[in-house]
Amino acid sequence: MIKVTLPDGSIKEFEQGATPMDVANSISAGLARNVISAKFNDKIVEASTPLTTDGALTLYTWNDDEGKKAFWHSTSHVMAQAIEELYPGSKLTIGPAIENGFYYDVDFGEHTLSENDFGKIENRMLEIARGKHDFKLREVSKADALDYYKKQDNPFKVELIENLEDGTITFCDHDTFTDLCRGGHIPNTGIIKAVKLMSVAGAYWRGDEKKPQLTRVYGTSFPKQKELKEYLELLEEAKKRDHRKLGRELELFTFSQKVGQGLPLWLPKGAALRERLENFLKKAQKTAGYEMVVSPHIGQKELYVTSGHYAKYGEDSFQPIKTPNEGEEFLLKPMNCPHHCEIYNATSWSYRDLPKRFAEFGTVYRYEQSGELHGLTRVRGFTQDDAHIFCTPDQLDEEFKKVIDLTLYVFDSLGFENFTAQVSLRDPENKEKYIGSDDVWDKAENAIISAAKEKGLNYVVETGEAAFYGPKLDFMVKDALGRNWQLGTIQVDYNLPERFDLTYKGSDNESHRPVMIHRAPFGSMERFVAILLEHTGGNFPLWLMPEQAIILSLSEKYEKYSQKVLTLLENNEIRARKDNRNETIGKKIREAEMGKYPYMLIVGEQEANDGTVSVRKHGEGDIGTMPVEAFAEIVNNEIRKTLKAFEV
Ligand SMILES: [Zn+2]
Ligand SMILES: [Zn+2]
Repeated sequence: MIKVTLPDGSIKEFEQGATPMDVANSISAGLARNVISAKFNDKIVEASTPLTTDGALTLYTWNDDEGKKAFWHSTSHVMAQAIEELYPGSKLTIGPAIENGFYYDVDFGEHTLSENDFGKIENRMLEIARGKHDFKLREVSKADALDYYKKQDNPFKVELIENLEDGTITFCDHDTFTDLCRGGHIPNTGIIKAVKLMSVAGAYWRGDEKKPQLTRVYGTSFPKQKELKEYLELLEEAKKRDHRKLGRELELFTFSQKVGQGLPLWLPKGAALRERLENFLKKAQKTAGYEMVVSPHIGQKELYVTSGHYAKYGEDSFQPIKTPNEGEEFLLKPMNCPHHCEIYNATSWSYRDLPKRFAEFGTVYRYEQSGELHGLTRVRGFTQDDAHIFCTPDQLDEEFKKVIDLTLYVFDSLGFENFTAQVSLRDPENKEKYIGSDDVWDKAENAIISAAKEKGLNYVVETGEAAFYGPKLDFMVKDALGRNWQLGTIQVDYNLPERFDLTYKGSDNESHRPVMIHRAPFGSMERFVAILLEHTGGNFPLWLMPEQAIILSLSEKYEKYSQKVLTLLENNEIRARKDNRNETIGKKIREAEMGKYPYMLIVGEQEANDGTVSVRKHGEGDIGTMPVEAFAEIVNNEIRKTLKAFEV
C-alpha cells in the first residue's frame, strides 16, 4: 500500500500502482469526471500514471492553470496528427502549451501554410477528438526512438533525442499518432470539444536564425464550444480596447520616430488627463502628510554607484553622458530614490521629525530593447508617482497601513474593484542573501502582514519573493476583461539608508538608521493611463473625462444658445464643448458616441425658448429635458459619488 497526501493535508491509502484517477474516484465521481491531470511530489503526471511511492498529490481540472496546460498541450498533439495526415511529408518539431493555447513548429516542406488551411485542419482535429482516443505514455530506448524518427526522415526530432539520456525517453501515443513527449496530457481526446487555429508565423528551429525556418501554427481549444465563443469575444473586445488604438482615437498621446522610440508625446487632451490624475493624487498626498520635492532628470554616475544601481543595471542602461571638458559622467535618472535620499541628507533629523514623506512625479529613463517596447506599457521614459517615506522602525507598521489606505483610495476612485495582494517575504533558509538583521526583518514582515490583515486585503504570502533589501506588498488588479495587471507596489528598504548613510537622532541622543518605504500607487503615469484605457475602454470615470459633455445643436441657428449653455456649464465647473457644424443631428450623435462623451446635450427651438437641454447619457440614451442647472447638478452628484475626499 502507498500513502497519498492530498492538498487539504488528509492522507489516504491506496494499493501500489493506483492512478491519480483512482484517487479522484475515491473522493467523488464528479471530481473524477473533471480531473484532467495531476502533480505528484512536485512532478506533473497524467491522470493515468501509476503511483508507486508515498507522496503528495494535487489533482487538476480545467479550472487550474496546470489543467489548462495539459489540455492545450494535448491538443497540440491532435493538431500535429491532423497536419501529418493532411500534409504528408511535414516534419514535426515541438508543440508546447502557452498562455491561452498552444503552438506547434512544423517544417511544411514545399507547402506554405495559410489561414485558408485552418478550416480543414480544425475539422480533422474535431473528428480525432470525437474518437475519444486515450493518451498513452510509454518508455522507449534511445536507439528505438532514434530509429523511429530516422525512418520518418525527421532531423529535428533526431536532434532532440540525441540530447536526451537513454532511460528517460518517452513517446506518447493516441489514435494512430505517436510523438516524442515528456508527458503532461489529459486522459483522452474526447474532452476537447472546441478548437480554433489562431495564426501562423515564422519561427527558427531552436530560435536560431542560422537554423532552418519553420512555420509556427498557433491554436487554442476548450472543453465547451461556449467557452471558445466567449474567449473569441474577449479577444475582439480587447482589440477594441487596445490602449494604442484608443489613445489615437481619443487624441491622448502619440509617438514620433523623430523624437525616438519608446518616448511618448502627450497631446493636449492626454496632458490634461494626466494633470487631473496628478492633481487628484497630490491632493490626497497632501492630506496624508506628504511633501512635494523636485529633482533633476540626470545624476552623477557616482550617485548610482553609491545606490548600487550602476553595478546591477549599468551595462544594460543608457550609457553615461560625458561633459566636454571636466570629464564628468552623468546618467539619465533611472529611479528617483537616490535623489530623495540626498534630499533627506540635506537636513539633520531627530526622531520627533519623522516620518518624512517626500513625493515627486519624477520622470525616469530606462533602456528597453526596441523589440520590447509596447505602447505606453513599455516605454523608455516615464513619470512615476513616486514617494519615499523615511521613518523609525517603530513607525513602519503605521506608515505601511497609511500607504495601503492611500492605494485603496486610488483604486476606488478609479473604478478598480477587483484586486488581490501579494506579500513577499524573505526565504528563511537563505538569510545570508538579504541585507538587514533578523530583528528588523521580522518586524517589517510582521508589520506588512498585520497591515494587510487589518485592512481586510485578499492576500497571499510568497516566501522567498522579497527583494534582497526588504519585504514588499504588491497589488494585482483585475480589469474589466479579467486580465491581471500589477499596480501599486509598497516596498520596505534597509539597503539605501545604509548606502547613503541616512541617520536621525533618537530619544537616546544616539544616531539611528531610518527605514525607507518606496511606493507608487499608479506605478507610472504612462502605464497607468494605458491600463485605465483598457479597463474602461476609454469611458473614464466622469471626474477624469477630458470633456464631460458635448452640446449638439439641431442647426446653426442655435449657435448663440449653445454658447450660453457652454458658459453656464463652465461656471459649474463642467468641461464641455459644442458642436455647431451644419450636420444632421444623427451624425453628430454618432460621432459623439465614438468620442465617448459621457453626456450629449441636444439644443433646438424648444430648448432655446425654455432655457433647457435634452440630455442623452452615453450607454443609456435619453434621460429627459431639463434646465442647464439641473443637468449640472446631475453631473456634480455623480462626481461626488465616485470621487470622495481622501481621509486619514
Ligand atoms: Zn505531449
Ligand atoms: Zn524608490
